[in-house]
Amino acid sequence: MARVTPAAPVADVVGGRTAKALRDGLGIETVEDLLRHYPRRYIDPGDLTDLDALATGEHATVLAEVKSVNTRRMQQRKGTITEVVVSDGRGRLTLVFFNQAWRAQRQLQVGRRGLFAGTVSAYGGTRQLAHPRFVLLPADSDLEPDSEAQAAFADLLIPIYPATAGLPSWKIQQAMRLALDAVDAIADPLPADVRAAEGFMSLDEALRQIHRPVDQEAIEAARARLRFDEAFGLQVVLAQRRALLEGQSARPRVATKDGLLAAFDAQRPFPLTGAQERVGVEIAADLETDHPMHRLLQGDVGAGKTLVALRAMLQVVDAGGQAALLAPTEVLAQQHVRTLRAFLGPMAETGLLAGSGPCTRIAFLSGSQGVRERREELLATASGEAGIVVGTHALLEDAVDFAELGLVVVDEQHRFGVEQRAVLGTPDRDGQRPHTLVMTATPIPRTVAMTVFGDLEVSVLDEYPPDRGVIATHVVAPREKPAHLARAWTRVREEVEAGRKVFVVCPRIGDEVDDAPSDAEAPTMSSVLEVADELRDRYLTGLRIGILHGRMASEEKDDAMRRFTADSADEGAIDVLVATTVIEVGVDVPEASTMVILDADRFGISQLHQLRGRIARGGGDGLCLLVTAADVDSPARERLSAVAATTDGFELARVDLQARREGDVLGTAQSGRRSSLRLLEVVRDEDIVERARVAATSLIEHDPTLADHLLLRDQVAALSEDDRSDFLEKG
Ligand code: ADP
Ligand code: MG
Repeated sequence: MARVTPAAPVADVVGGRTAKALRDGLGIETVEDLLRHYPRRYIDPGDLTDLDALATGEHATVLAEVKSVNTRRMQQRKGTITEVVVSDGRGRLTLVFFNQAWRAQRQLQVGRRGLFAGTVSAYGGTRQLAHPRFVLLPADSDLEPDSEAQAAFADLLIPIYPATAGLPSWKIQQAMRLALDAVDAIADPLPADVRAAEGFMSLDEALRQIHRPVDQEAIEAARARLRFDEAFGLQVVLAQRRALLEGQSARPRVATKDGLLAAFDAQRPFPLTGAQERVGVEIAADLETDHPMHRLLQGDVGAGKTLVALRAMLQVVDAGGQAALLAPTEVLAQQHVRTLRAFLGPMAETGLLAGSGPCTRIAFLSGSQGVRERREELLATASGEAGIVVGTHALLEDAVDFAELGLVVVDEQHRFGVEQRAVLGTPDRDGQRPHTLVMTATPIPRTVAMTVFGDLEVSVLDEYPPDRGVIATHVVAPREKPAHLARAWTRVREEVEAGRKVFVVCPRIGDEVDDAPSDAEAPTMSSVLEVADELRDRYLTGLRIGILHGRMASEEKDDAMRRFTADSADEGAIDVLVATTVIEVGVDVPEASTMVILDADRFGISQLHQLRGRIARGGGDGLCLLVTAADVDSPARERLSAVAATTDGFELARVDLQARREGDVLGTAQSGRRSSLRLLEVVRDEDIVERARVAATSLIEHDPTLADHLLLRDQVAALSEDDRSDFLEKG
């Protein structure tokens, strides 16, 4: 066969039908794509597959032995059904064929072994494969074994590939064999010294061994090499980005002795936690250098990130710069304004109201504010009168002009895209860039942080302010225990009578146009509008009930939050706020003690954790009720039980991670793109990521543009092109 390069279309080595199936089913276009489709596992032709380990719904390929073949006429319909029982010696699996008696009898003789592929289903308690595809191990009596069987069983270890219905594993194996025989030696982009230091085989060897291993050891060696490659590629991209950042400049913002920060610290209502103190020092030092700070501040819900951000902003304002605080929702942005004004008191008064000490104006910009107000705030921003500018993504519009932007704080980073972050990071006329501080409550395992946010320094707030209450969380399942929901509402009433506030969270608003049930049987989800009415009329009569959701106007939202935050004794105060997840991030109402989440199974683990973080923030204890109609042993119920079992955000993140693949963590699942990570599992492979990071950093130090490593340069360029935004820097 003619030689081909890795870039050649896969149709150059396999037939047109197979090429089409590879493309349609697996997205494989080139020979290289094919070679990068790695086996999931391997079977030794001597070892039968453990049939008990098969899960229903799984697309499985098993090696098993035929135990019995039984054909009968069907009762309801015309035709025959053939049931072939195969076994691994212990477990059994039934293969079902319709109207294929001749084939089963001729080919599937008792005692023959073969590979069987199909989707596992359960029928009357037994697991089965309906219409599986199969190849049989050549028997001694086969005078002319078919080539497919010969190819499948020729290898010492049979690779089992992630397959599709149209393309069983052994067909992929066959295609691989053709590709490996035809392809030129594959050039190795990994620098020779790194390869030598790690003791790796060449890329060519690794690809050959992973598909046609000589033994188990070779598989491990090949995997180790290819796993490292994945980590290394990413780390080179990140090392390049760090090098780029180091070349950028920013104005140093040196702390002053008698500015806003000093005045604020002198009158601050509570001492800093140890963690706030430590992180504060790290940030203060970053701000004083002439490179832009790029720091990720990670701290669980309620750890006190806002205060850390405020102190950083004050340092910058003291040094003549402005600070922008970016929030993902308008509700949160409005709250930040209220919080900052409350924290600063007279220091946030300017003009005639200003006292004698240092002060600055806090401006607020949002997409839905009135024209006149917006113009005023824009002016205060452009003139520099406002030291602190708070806003939603509206802050990112071209129309917003800062006098001298010195610091950008992004709250709840996981809600923002990279491009948005980048807009604020652009240099000013003198080529100076603002410092950036990115805050998130999503606990990120160290290696994921290293992979996803590898161009950021990381600070962790791992301590809570002292007066945080304890939150008890319970799952309430009215379908099983109808009285419990009524008890929940009684409890809500008691809390309100004791002067506390209650959130009721619903998965939808209820004013959707296409709300008419298209499927009468689909269970409808609770909605803010309906639930608020129902509570007012029936369950919580006499209590003051407000609503909050994303489609309310800006002033309405602000008004609802104000009234919910107001003292219960005030006229117009709200006791119970029925809301969507707009309150999910950051909302801080100290009197809120209780949260009832309806249809809680509609929310993910981290979302529930965020929601729950809204209560028990003012010293007292909290109660969170997760109301659900999900079945007792459904995965959804397991999620709820996990949330009820702990309030430790890191523990919940671990549970969450176990349930999802890393692709999700890295954002690839959402984007629907193929991840460049096939073998590497970022959490498990911490030491590989670490080694790759060291090697990549040292490489970029010596060869920043990869001029001496052209193959690697191309590979890395493709990688950062492909996966850029939401993969490397999670949006
Ligand atoms: P998050 O990290 O979730 O954004 P916040 O910044 O909203 O948390 O802080 C949670 C609550 O703790 C707020 O009410 C805040 O005023 C309070 N808080 C912050 N720091 C301290 C501290 N050092 N001592 C006491 N309370 C604090
Ligand atoms: Mg916050």
